[in-house]
Amino acid sequence: MLLDNKTAIVTGGSRGIGRAICINLAKEGANIVTCYSNGADAANETVKMCEEFGVKAIAVKANVACEADVEALVNKAKEEFGSIDILVNNAGITKDNLMLKMTSDDFSDVIDTNLKGAFMMLKHVSKIMLRQKSGHIINISSVVGLRGNAGQVNYSASKAGMIGMTKSAAKELGSRGITVNAVAPGFIETDMTAKLPESVVSENLKSIPMKCLGNVNDVANLVAFLGSDNARYITGQVICVDGGMAM
Ligand code: NAP
Repeated sequence: MLLDNKTAIVTGGSRGIGRAICINLAKEGANIVTCYSNGADAANETVKMCEEFGVKAIAVKANVACEADVEALVNKAKEEFGSIDILVNNAGITKDNLMLKMTSDDFSDVIDTNLKGAFMMLKHVSKIMLRQKSGHIINISSVVGLRGNAGQVNYSASKAGMIGMTKSAAKELGSRGITVNAVAPGFIETDMTAKLPESVVSENLKSIPMKCLGNVNDVANLVAFLGSDNARYITGQVICVDGGMAM
């Protein structure tokens, strides 16, 4: 299979896009290390779903915004599996509000989880990948990081930051056989989008040429490709999975 004997860390694998990424990577033969912040039962469910494909999987409680948790997660993955071949920075939150009503705490919380969390994962995992001289890193950004969105200055700043970080890291790590890419999903049906009012969903649908929302596997299929050696010469790219929304 595409990812036989590989090990992947996927942050935020308890549900939504992260769970689908874990399952897709497991289906291709990768052992899975995932983390969650609160959803222990759901994360253990993801582990069981991965194990059905005959791979090993573990779920660790780790807040990606906390560097001690990040280090413990990366050390656990290395101890259990010996190598880390794929990192998917997927964990993310929203705290939406119009800019004038947004508190500084709501701005910082989103940046700390979505951007600083991804940075700390990138830093600690790339130390291991540099020694291996191989690895594939995929940052889950958003079309909102490319286009902006009213009510999401914190979220769009975090996702645009991930794109800059992806390109800089790709330049730092490319000569050592490590690729770094960003995936920018559009409107994907998950818990994150379920809390949006129907009017926002129908308004967004108007700007999607394919006239439907995406599903979690649309994103997970691309991640499995970018995490494989079939994508060995692709780095520093931002690939939208959005039904044409951001073009
Ligand atoms: P979701 O359903 O809300 O799931 C978020 C996941 O992240 C959960 O597993 C959650 O764990 C985990 N998480 C949140 N904060 C964390 C933290 N501090 N430390 C560790 N894990 C944490 O979200 P989703 O819709 O699947 O989105 C996944 C990623 O895709 C996010 O980065 C999001 O910004 C991005 N994205 C989504 C869409 C969309 O339309 N859905 C579009 C563009 C980009 P718990 O279960 O423990 O809370």
